[in-house]
Amino acid sequence: EHEVAEYRSSLGIRVSGVDVPRPVKTFEDCGFSAELLKAIAKQAYEKPTGIQCQALPIVLSGRDIIGIAKTGSGKTASFVLPMIGHIMDQPELEKEEGPIGVICAPTRELAHQIYVEAKKFAKAHNICVSAVYGGMSKLEQFKELKAGCEIVVATPGRLIDMLKMKALKMSRATYLVLDEADRMFDLGFEPQVRSIVGQIRPDRQTLLFSATMPRKVEKLAREILTDPIRVTVGEVG
Ligand code: ADP
Ligand code: MG
Repeated sequence: EHEVAEYRSSLGIRVSGVDVPRPVKTFEDCGFSAELLKAIAKQAYEKPTGIQCQALPIVLSGRDIIGIAKTGSGKTASFVLPMIGHIMDQPELEKEEGPIGVICAPTRELAHQIYVEAKKFAKAHNICVSAVYGGMSKLEQFKELKAGCEIVVATPGRLIDMLKMKALKMSRATYLVLDEADRMFDLGFEPQVRSIVGQIRPDRQTLLFSATMPRKVEKLAREILTDPIRVTVGEVG
């Protein structure tokens, strides 16, 4: 235990919550498939970043997480890599039954970046990723979602539009990520985020990432996460 505490502090990691899994040192420690490890190596990711070392084992254990770390610290892979395993573990159903993983991000640019990163790893297992954000034809997007996919990366407004149009069902969604939660609030998406969360089964796994934790985000986290573990890396405001 002392060693674990020292390792965490060497990475600037602070944790709170019950039964926190030990941080990993390598991607091999995570139990990823050979295909996924190969895809990681192809990105030239030699070893996990600080947030990844602690967030990966937490998420892989099925726990809810609040991840707080500054921009550029590698948060995307913290939620994308375990999502691949989560999807592989689900019974095979028709893609038309809707996505298993749902990722919300505040802006088109961010949603697109996550989409690109997710595709690199999803490819390893032929998992399909769709991007859902403004600036693309709603009809095209509707058709794409109707055809089905396992992962949806979306901005809250456009995802609500697609849900209203019944482009996708949420019955199979069990892995929800709210990325850059603080910015989603800054941009006024709290009602949309709450509406989306309300349409996803309560026995889902929920991951919330943010660079800062203002009181409103803290309140949302208390309401929508179950027994979460909080991980903070470095100095955050
Ligand atoms: P954040 O979401 O915390 O702002 P990102 O997930 O966008 O950070 O990652 C920032 C950059 O670091 C990206 O270019 C990403 O490809 C790269 N990256 C992520 N994880 C690793 C890693 N383990 N090793 C090397 N580079 C990484
Ligand atoms: Mg990010």
